[in-house]
Amino acid sequence: MGRTGQAVVIGGGIGGLAAAAALHGAGLRVTVLERSPSLEPVGAAISLSPNALRALDVIGLGDEIRDLAAWQGDGGLRTPGGRWLSRSSAEAAAARFGGPLVLLHRATLIDRLAALLPDGAIRTGAAATLADPGDADRPARVRTSDGELEADLVVAADGLRSAVRGALFPDHPGPVYSGFTTWRVVVPLPGVAFASHETWGRGRIWGTHPLKDGRVYAYAAAVTAAGGHAADERAELLHRYGDWHDPIPAVLAATRPEDVLRHDVHHIAEPLPAYHRGRVALLGDAAHAMPPTLGQGGNQAIEDAVVLAHHRDDLAAYTAARLPRTTAVVRQAVRVARLNMAGNRAVTAVRDAALTALSKAGPALFLRGFDGIADWRPPQAPYASQRTRAGER
Ligand SMILES: Cc1cc2nc3c(=O)[nH]c(=O)nc-3n(C[C@H](O)[C@H](O)[C@H](O)COP(=O)(O)OP(=O)(O)OC[C@H]3O[C@@H](n4cnc5c(N)ncnc54)[C@H](O)[C@@H]3O)c2cc1C
Repeated sequence: MGRTGQAVVIGGGIGGLAAAAALHGAGLRVTVLERSPSLEPVGAAISLSPNALRALDVIGLGDEIRDLAAWQGDGGLRTPGGRWLSRSSAEAAAARFGGPLVLLHRATLIDRLAALLPDGAIRTGAAATLADPGDADRPARVRTSDGELEADLVVAADGLRSAVRGALFPDHPGPVYSGFTTWRVVVPLPGVAFASHETWGRGRIWGTHPLKDGRVYAYAAAVTAAGGHAADERAELLHRYGDWHDPIPAVLAATRPEDVLRHDVHHIAEPLPAYHRGRVALLGDAAHAMPPTLGQGGNQAIEDAVVLAHHRDDLAAYTAARLPRTTAVVRQAVRVARLNMAGNRAVTAVRDAALTALSKAGPALFLRGFDGIADWRPPQAPYASQRTRAGER
């Protein structure tokens, strides 16, 4: 595919927009089709580790995101009573992985990714279906209510419930329930000093982290049957976490019921046979949805995006580069979920003792969990056009 190739991206989430920006930077004409009426993501934050930030450097966005985000790593792992099991620092994280781990609101990331694209490249309210995956001699075709688009490359970034994945790999079983639900809030918390933490209880966790704009991002997860919902999710959180250590009661006091987002977690347990077919490449949650226990789902989607742009003329090379890595990250995220969502009293007692001992013997577990993940580097140098554009703003 030459520099004038046409790429159609199905899905305007983090993965789709990052892919569109990377392909645009590589010289392709790009159209993003997003079925929602706007690009507005869920009202929550996202943590980005140095691997994804290096991928964002390729499209000229890394430094801007590092500036807009809060550095992560100061704090650590606690018990519900408040005892520290393990502590780390942002500097130690940055030194270990050659750059910081950061946290920012999802809306900021989506907004900055979209700003890299030319006017008219993003079409919202545009639900798309794959009409033909194409092959070496035939372009792919994507159908919308306005008609069909031909493409040299189609990027299926249509998320966990990807219809494109189902069409390309009809025998694949699709995602499975990960066994737990999550709650997320972003709230102002003036006057409350606290250290970032993730707290592991029995079958339940809670995390609180500051954003750069003064608000805090808090999340919780608990082992439950799939599909549950409470009439008042804040009351549900109070019931489950109200007697946990500070600042959790203060976060709950600052939260209104309508601030609380609740989502069950699913992942793709059985890897796909490939991340491409014909002229179509799958990326992000469509290809490898994972539990959020490592905070890597979005990070891996951003890695996919720049690797896809690099291998845009050879999708088998894209699959070869991404399938083993993302399969390993999914498996690690599932293993961590087993550990931090463990519900048995004896098991959690052994876990907590081991965590304390391990942390005394070396770097905090939080940091070790990113070994082999956060040190990843993209295959290409930054694209000059977007580097200039980001620098001009
Ligand atoms: C509780 C929780 C916390 C998380 N925390 C983190 C974190 O800290 N760090 C991290 O890296 N990851 C995190 N993740 C994972 C991360 O949110 C996902 O991996 C990431 O959003 C996937 O992006 P995506 O673009 O692949 O899919 P999505 O964000 O799901 O985007 C898919 C898009 O495609 C659109 N779409 C679907 N079908 C069509 C169609 N037919 N036509 C047009 N558009 C369509 C959808 O409307 C949607 O906008 C977390 C996940 C959860 C559940």
